[in-house]
Amino acid sequence: MLWPKSLSKEIKTKINLAGYTSFKIGGQAEYFFEPKNLKSLQKILVSAKQAGKRVFILGAGSNILISDAGLDGLVIRLKSEDFRKSSCQGNYVVAGSGIKLNALISFSRKKNLSGLEFLAGIPGTLGGCLMGNAGAWGKAIGELVKQIGVLDYSGKLKLLQGKQLKFAYRKSNLNKYIIIWAKLKLLPENKKVIAAKINKYLLQRKETQSNSLSNAGCIFKNPDKDSAGRLIDLCGLKGKINGGAVISKRHANFILNTGKAKSRDVLSLMDLIQKKVIARFKVNLEPEIKIWK
Ligand SMILES: Cc1cc2nc3c(=O)[nH]c(=O)nc-3n(C[C@H](O)[C@H](O)[C@H](O)COP(=O)(O)OP(=O)(O)OC[C@H]3O[C@@H](n4cnc5c(N)ncnc54)[C@H](O)[C@@H]3O)c2cc1C
Repeated sequence: MLWPKSLSKEIKTKINLAGYTSFKIGGQAEYFFEPKNLKSLQKILVSAKQAGKRVFILGAGSNILISDAGLDGLVIRLKSEDFRKSSCQGNYVVAGSGIKLNALISFSRKKNLSGLEFLAGIPGTLGGCLMGNAGAWGKAIGELVKQIGVLDYSGKLKLLQGKQLKFAYRKSNLNKYIIIWAKLKLLPENKKVIAAKINKYLLQRKETQSNSLSNAGCIFKNPDKDSAGRLIDLCGLKGKINGGAVISKRHANFILNTGKAKSRDVLSLMDLIQKKVIARFKVNLEPEIKIWK
């Protein structure tokens, strides 16, 4: 048997992944599992390794494009209560990687702890946020990290801190791990002041990004001292349609799903953008979204 007997009933097969992503695009997962606790997660990782199955860790799916053909392997989502707990230790917040950013921001506000407000409106989990060092308005989550608890893909626990942690613009050195929890350093502040900051950031976001169509946020990383959206706009690509996907007229670094977009529609718009931008500006745009195939 491929999976441990104790877990086999909880492992689903042929699950449509589109609904688990903000883009609403993607085929089926061969296997799909939401572990109830750390032990189950460790067990399944050992089995996946023995069976030679690829493992994909899914957060809120707000930064990924999944292939129309689906994924061979096991998709794991850390959704259960055990992976979403948060607590406060002085000026530190310790939270499970599956917690949504808005829940984490709200928890910290209630504890009169400030520092996470700039993330307001980013639709991800703490795990996805740490993996890609998500940020906005000149700040990024990596600046707040004190410690991270991870598992390697054999299921072994590890504590990462200090120089073991590296964060740069929209990247981290956490790729070979599954993030389980993180300890973040915040600052004491009155909850009313924190609430005002959150509202300010939400408003700023609404002014620049609000969209009724499904998307995955910025498609490309900003090149050094420039903005990918500006370059795409100057290439005249705003509003460009391919199948069910369209380059946003509002924010050129967003690709929108008009309803029935396929991953290939998005990929060919990405290819077009990269070709036009390199031809005109000699700038190689690097994808910010993760492409799973
Ligand atoms: C409308 C919109 C606006 C956005 N605005 C911003 C923005 O301003 N700034 C910004 O930085 N991003 C932004 N994003 C992108 C996205 O929300 C962030 O990157 C977010 O942090 C991703 O988290 P997630 O849980 O959705 O990750 P997912 O998309 O599920 O996964 C992203 C990557 O993280 C990995 N991952 C997720 N959880 C774990 C874990 N526990 N352990 C190991 N790996 C894990 C996945 O394997 C994958 O490689 C935006 C997206 C949308 C749709």
